[in-house]
Amino acid sequence: MSDEEPAAETGAASDGHHDFWAEAVADEIEARVVEQRETTDEASGEERPASRNPDDPIVIKGGVSPSGVAHLGNVNEIMRGYFVAEVLRARGHEVRQVFTSDDRDPLRKLPRKLADSDGNIVGLGEVDAGALGRNLGKPYTDIPDPFGEADSYAAHFAALLAADAERLGVDIEMYSNTALYEDGIFDPVVKRVLDRADTAREVLAEYQAKADSDYVPFNPICESCGKLTETVTSVDLDAETVDYVCTDMEVGDETIEGCGHEGTATFREGKLPWRFEWPGQWQVLDVDFEPFGKDHAEGSWPSGVDIAENVLDIEPPVPMVYEWFTLNGEALSSSAGNIVTVPELLDLLEPEVVRYFFALDPKKARDLDLSRLDQLVDDFDRFERASYEGVDDESLTAFAEGAYPHVVDDVADDQPIRLPYTFAAVLGMVEERDLREKLARDEGHIPDDADDATVEAALARVEKARNWAERMDNAYNYRLQADLPAVEFDDATADALDALAAVVADGADGETIQAAIYDTARDHDIEPGDLFEAGYRLFFDETQGPRLGEFLGDLEQEFVVTRLRRER
Ligand SMILES: [Zn+2]
Repeated sequence: MSDEEPAAETGAASDGHHDFWAEAVADEIEARVVEQRETTDEASGEERPASRNPDDPIVIKGGVSPSGVAHLGNVNEIMRGYFVAEVLRARGHEVRQVFTSDDRDPLRKLPRKLADSDGNIVGLGEVDAGALGRNLGKPYTDIPDPFGEADSYAAHFAALLAADAERLGVDIEMYSNTALYEDGIFDPVVKRVLDRADTAREVLAEYQAKADSDYVPFNPICESCGKLTETVTSVDLDAETVDYVCTDMEVGDETIEGCGHEGTATFREGKLPWRFEWPGQWQVLDVDFEPFGKDHAEGSWPSGVDIAENVLDIEPPVPMVYEWFTLNGEALSSSAGNIVTVPELLDLLEPEVVRYFFALDPKKARDLDLSRLDQLVDDFDRFERASYEGVDDESLTAFAEGAYPHVVDDVADDQPIRLPYTFAAVLGMVEERDLREKLARDEGHIPDDADDATVEAALARVEKARNWAERMDNAYNYRLQADLPAVEFDDATADALDALAAVVADGADGETIQAAIYDTARDHDIEPGDLFEAGYRLFFDETQGPRLGEFLGDLEQEFVVTRLRRER
């Protein structure tokens, strides 16, 4: 979190009323709920039936079309809704967070990467890619799970997303779009859209080229080839069926080839085009709020509002546009391999740090730089401190007061002890748990009176930071050798190491040891680089390593002296 732009970071409302963006969104939703419970029309003053019962829960929705990998972009959709849901619950509302898997969508092209049921990313070579290729153009629910486990490709993907939500402690109700059609939930929406097809076309013409008089806003699934198709030749509203010819269909940049079959489909054997399907979901799931990425803000949101108001006669939900994340400075892309999954992230960060990342202002584009996770964790630690004791940044303190209770599982009575992430990474170079604890105590990161549970909780971060060091192969990716490695040095180097041991034995701190390495090398006519290398060999059995003096300064003095003397 940058000190220069606190307001932009926290998303505080410009009027200063709310310091956490989710509070302002919750206000809008509450206003909607109150208005829908009113029985007096505000404009005319006339009595009318309320469009909402007092005990109807507030519904927050997210949604995703199944792809190969559930990534951070999908999690954005879950977490933004989560914070708004949490704020509303804290205000005493009953809230359901629903999530649609838009799984009647067709598979348009082969994904380059897939995630297995544990969230591990694999290439297409590791699954039956041929089966996927034969199923292009079919709904995801009609395509076998490439891993042969779940009922379908769609079920596999939905399970990944549900598992991610659970890992982050978010309760979502997953809905399969296909099930909504098959169970007849969508029937009234399909019927209404087709009944008002002329209005639908007029509305649609404002937003897309393909809306001529032949256009019917329904895509049947061809009973012969199983693909979605779009040439509807007649509609029977009473029988709730359409007649179709299976012709080629353009989906995005791809063409799905038709088989030429002529048939009849019920309203449950096809789907509405996305621009109609989305507002249809608002209707059948009673959606009050939906966050979405800025692609929808320019595309299907304005048409969705229009269709909701003018075709379906419903009130669209409260919207919220969020910015996308980049990962390591680049757009998220599973095909380019620039993705990180929730399980991967939770190897490196505590869940509350991940949730904190999503609690930051959604209006601000943000980069998740895995090489600088230490900065993110430092920011989280400051945020937590701000919540408990305040920091010299009023805006951050106010943001933390609003957001922190929803970022952690439970607000502990005592402020948790947090080892700085880079220090935790230094401790990760040491394998023994007791030595880790001693070093943390020596450095004053663990108070003398801390109980066992507190110590364990603080040391848990070491494993995360260790995983980070290994994944990034950074300056902390070394292991302190418990035993003296097999090493031999020439006389000058051996003397220099003994001299350095004397400096450490005198109680020098890290910075002093670092300077002493240079001085000692000079005094013994050897290159400083050679003396550093000798140190790395002794402590890590490597030829390079972290800033040696500071690292040795963190270690137990007697251990360092003995090792520099090559005694054990
Ligand atoms: Zn066909």
